[in-house]
Amino acid sequence: MFTLIDLHTHSHCSDGLLAPAALVAAAAARGVQVLALTDHDTTAGLTEAQAACAVAGIRFVAGVEITALWRGQEIHVVGLGIDPAQPQLAAHLEAIVSQRRERILAIGEKLRRVPKLAALDLGARVLREAPVPTRTHLARALVAAGAANTLQGAFDRYLGRGTSGHVSAAWPALEQAVQAIRASGGHAVLAHPHRYRLSGGALRNLCAEFAACGGSALEVSLPGLSPNDADRLARLARENALAGSAGSDFHDPGQPWRPLGRFAKLPEGVEPLLPRLALAA
Ligand code: AMP
Ligand code: MN
Ligand code: MN
Ligand code: MN
Repeated sequence: MFTLIDLHTHSHCSDGLLAPAALVAAAAARGVQVLALTDHDTTAGLTEAQAACAVAGIRFVAGVEITALWRGQEIHVVGLGIDPAQPQLAAHLEAIVSQRRERILAIGEKLRRVPKLAALDLGARVLREAPVPTRTHLARALVAAGAANTLQGAFDRYLGRGTSGHVSAAWPALEQAVQAIRASGGHAVLAHPHRYRLSGGALRNLCAEFAACGGSALEVSLPGLSPNDADRLARLARENALAGSAGSDFHDPGQPWRPLGRFAKLPEGVEPLLPRLALAA
């Protein structure tokens, strides 16, 4: 079977830095054999990525990473094996993208109140440049303007919760994201479950509700996962009869600590999601 897979990646169609074809080339260079493109709330890069995979001999999975809300927390749901033309999914994503545009403008307004940022009008600039704008775009603009040294620094100072530019958003609920993915023939995967700011009990509830509303899998294999978190995620998958998925959440070749490709072998007792996905040749 396949050894190196990556079922969670981003291109410049959302907040990644590479064009879809360049992402595929980078994945091929690392020996990735199965690749999903999972941009935030958009399927715009799938056609280009699929064509590039066909040329590179990589099996391609059409994907998306949908922003959702669960008990006031932002949660990400990866959809794999989706049909981007399916109307319910397309309408769901379109609504989120308009919410994103409004949110970036609202953050931009707040940042204009910071004296040294007032003249930059970062919100308007990001909206002009990014069809699916994210806080990552704002973070890059803040670094380019010299207001922060790193993306992390920009989040810590201007964009994260509790900072001057934070704006929360009423994203559609978790079960609506799962439904939209399923309506389009896809499998719903709870992305990076260990990264949410939830207590152990709340994360258990999230996983149980995710399974109950039709979720298929948890991401259990990601770069930088501590052995403790890896055990915790494997246990959550087994307890909720959820399969396991693996991906890098790759955005940027300048972040070598998050390389493309994960080994397909998952923890003991966790069923891999991969065989359930219909793979293009
Ligand atoms: P948004 O969906 O607009 O809220 O933007 C969230 C995106 O910002 C995520 O998909 C990550 O790629 C990125 N992000 C979130 N927190 C951080 C952070 N602390 N440092 C760098 N990137 C981050
Ligand atoms: Mn991102
Ligand atoms: Mn995510
Ligand atoms: Mn992601």
